[in-house]
Amino acid sequence: MYSDDTIAAISTPPGRGGIGVLRLSGPAALQIATSISRSESGGPLNKANLARFEKVTDPATGEIVDEVILTYFKTPHSYTGEDVVEISCHGSPIILERVLRMVLDRGARIAEPGEFTFRAFFNKRIDLAQAQAVRDVINAQTQYQARVAAKQLGGELSARLTPLKDTLVEIIVHLESSVEFVEDDISPEVASTLLVKLSDVTEALIEIADSFSFGRYVKEGFDLAIVGRPNVGKSSVFNRLIGSDRAIVTELPGTTRDALYESTSISGVPVRLIDTAGIRETIDRVESIGITRSRAAIADADISLVILDASLPLHREDLELLDSVPETRIIALNKSDLPNLIDERLCDDTGTHSGQLDSVVRISALTGSGFEGLTTRIFERLSGDAAAERDDIMLTDARQHAAVRKAIGQLSDARGLLEQRELEEIVLLKLRGALASLGELTGETLNDDILGQIFSTFCIGK
Ligand code: GDP
Repeated sequence: MYSDDTIAAISTPPGRGGIGVLRLSGPAALQIATSISRSESGGPLNKANLARFEKVTDPATGEIVDEVILTYFKTPHSYTGEDVVEISCHGSPIILERVLRMVLDRGARIAEPGEFTFRAFFNKRIDLAQAQAVRDVINAQTQYQARVAAKQLGGELSARLTPLKDTLVEIIVHLESSVEFVEDDISPEVASTLLVKLSDVTEALIEIADSFSFGRYVKEGFDLAIVGRPNVGKSSVFNRLIGSDRAIVTELPGTTRDALYESTSISGVPVRLIDTAGIRETIDRVESIGITRSRAAIADADISLVILDASLPLHREDLELLDSVPETRIIALNKSDLPNLIDERLCDDTGTHSGQLDSVVRISALTGSGFEGLTTRIFERLSGDAAAERDDIMLTDARQHAAVRKAIGQLSDARGLLEQRELEEIVLLKLRGALASLGELTGETLNDDILGQIFSTFCIGK
């Protein structure tokens, strides 16, 4: 995948702006930049890490194309680890295209998506987890997502994995030498020490793997279905959560006939809100199709927000709905600005209905009261135990999660084999497998196809 030619790309997004940056990386970067620029001071460009005012000039005609700031980063102290030149032009797509054409005419090749970052990875400036974090920082849609990605950028995941991999290597070396030098099996004492070490590593990995249950929502977002009987205020809650009057609110029951979808974020986690048709018994054909779709939305959603109208007594259909919605629900007693006729224990004639007191929140979509508590509740439901460790390392990538899970499986196999006093060679096979799985996170043990797939999801110029 790696080639040692010189690549170029416009690194700023398409469109007009104050400045637009063109980036070159590779052995000919400096020479190409020099060939198209004319310095006011006349000195050579080869002084690294110095921003210089230059005039990009078409060598064929002598015409000045743009006044630019040019910065040279000398290998290995650059983003890619190679010679890099960044040319900050005025942010005009026409000028950037022209300068790009000029450097391509002088031997540079247009960069593939993610190729600058791939070179940084290839040259060991960063590992794969950090490279993916670069992409995640760029793609972040919320401050929280950006913060999580920025932590990975610093190599936190790798730092957490390194001592675990070191322990595995230590165990592997120990077993290998016992295979080579000792006729007898390893002693029970040694075996039990190794087992303890293996358990410690496994536990640490389980903790990392568990962070994915929340981390995947941080990266990919989650679906929240707003459900309830007609007229309880679903559309009003939906509108308040997205901060605009997207859904039609009326006092007429059955207005929302089909589900409405809208994307926003809750506590920095992207969410797709679904305003569903009110669930009730009906003979109206269109409405009943809507209700069937509501039920499908509930089944697919990560969380259901069940809205009850607190100004009315609990209705039989409310209870039936509560029974049919999965445990991952949150119950909001809406219209709490009016006199309340439902208490938080959700009592019906027969006593307490659902015992899930922790999931009941009082809100008013009319006044906005209780929404802070509601969003906190939603966040807690998503993050589970992870809430306490919000600032800890978090796996957000499915491929990384799969690799950690694989390592955990291989380690538990290894432990089982060691406990049964199986041959060291077989134990070693599992341990080496686990080490290789962990290497997939940081990129030491991945094939070119998978690397290609990962980097192709980057944008051009990064
Ligand atoms: P949906 O059918 O469940 O989507 O309910 P809507 O959002 O269309 O609201 C039904 C009616 O209840 C409308 O007249 C709203 O103005 C009213 N409503 C919604 N939320 C509240 C609330 O918190 N307090 C009060 N007093 N009225 C509300």
